Amino acid sequence: MILSSRKGNKPYLLGLNIHQLEDFAKCNGQDAFRGRQIHEWLYKKGVKSLDQITVLPKAWRYQLIQEGFFAGRLREASRYLSNDGTLKLLLETVDNEIIEAVGIPTRDRLTVCISSQIGCPMQCRFCATGKSGFQRSLEVNEIIDQILSLREVLNRRPSNIVFMGMGEPLLNIEAVLDSIYCMNKDLEIGQRRITLSTVGILNTLPQLAELARERLGKVQFTLALSLHAPNQGLRESIIPSAKAYPLKTLIEDCRHYLDVTGRRVSFEYILLGDLNDQMEHAEELADLLSGFQSHVNLIAYNPIAEEAFKRPSTFRIKQFMSVLERQGLAVSLRASRGLDQNAACGQLRRQYASFHKGV
Ligand code: SF4
Repeated sequence: MILSSRKGNKPYLLGLNIHQLEDFAKCNGQDAFRGRQIHEWLYKKGVKSLDQITVLPKAWRYQLIQEGFFAGRLREASRYLSNDGTLKLLLETVDNEIIEAVGIPTRDRLTVCISSQIGCPMQCRFCATGKSGFQRSLEVNEIIDQILSLREVLNRRPSNIVFMGMGEPLLNIEAVLDSIYCMNKDLEIGQRRITLSTVGILNTLPQLAELARERLGKVQFTLALSLHAPNQGLRESIIPSAKAYPLKTLIEDCRHYLDVTGRRVSFEYILLGDLNDQMEHAEELADLLSGFQSHVNLIAYNPIAEEAFKRPSTFRIKQFMSVLERQGLAVSLRASRGLDQNAACGQLRRQYASFHKGV
């Protein structure tokens, strides 16, 4: 059993499954049921520290803490509640970095948008996260904590999880797949309710389905590919990393994912006013995805300070949608939530800098 740690001295238990926790208890001279108790208190009750697991013998709790084990929960640094009920949480890691996670409640569901990295190296032009640099990838406990923290604060069970916060999940694929396993088995969230969003990483996307099958057994989560342009030139001008990944190859790799998993791919398309939102772009996109069992998710650009992109008009959005629909594509428009608190798609950034330096 491998216990991960950050700063090298504090192995955490959050992220371990029930069998690993049983083994952990046995390795520490306890009965296996002690591991099941830890599991229940970590995932169902959401305890923040081992000391709070009061069903465990006091002496053993004390010993574990003395030995440097910890639950693996993060500290809430700050919270921002939007007018529309969207909640952005800033969570502090043990190395004093800040992670952003967003809870988006509606009447029927609570969607939790989580981060997979601190910052992001991909530097997509429309996204605030890429502007603030890249620090490191998150560990499993740091990913799972985002869900537990939002569950606690909103007092509601998350129904849908989307890896659409800070970071490129395919650059942290092992921890992301282990987290999906944990969400599914330990938090009992169906894989079909989990979406992994990526701009596409050349040497990872082609093997994603096989890698996921190895780790998860069955692959049922949704792959959302951030496309944002119908041709290579335009895509490169918005997403610098696209230079390394020809659009034709990217689409072939998405088809491979569909072939292996049987799951239709969702294509994300941020509409940038007068840049990629013209009728001709819609026609080109329809051609590109013709015959592909897919879904197009349109997102109107959410403004960030560093770029002068425009949000498209409602008329232009409707026109774009209707071209795709006429060509037989399944299309939806994602509502922008949390705009007033910079919690909407593309607006998350490493607020830690100003947070810690008191700027
Ligand atoms: S859109 Fe995603 S991949 Fe691109 S910079 Fe932002 S967080 Fe990174």
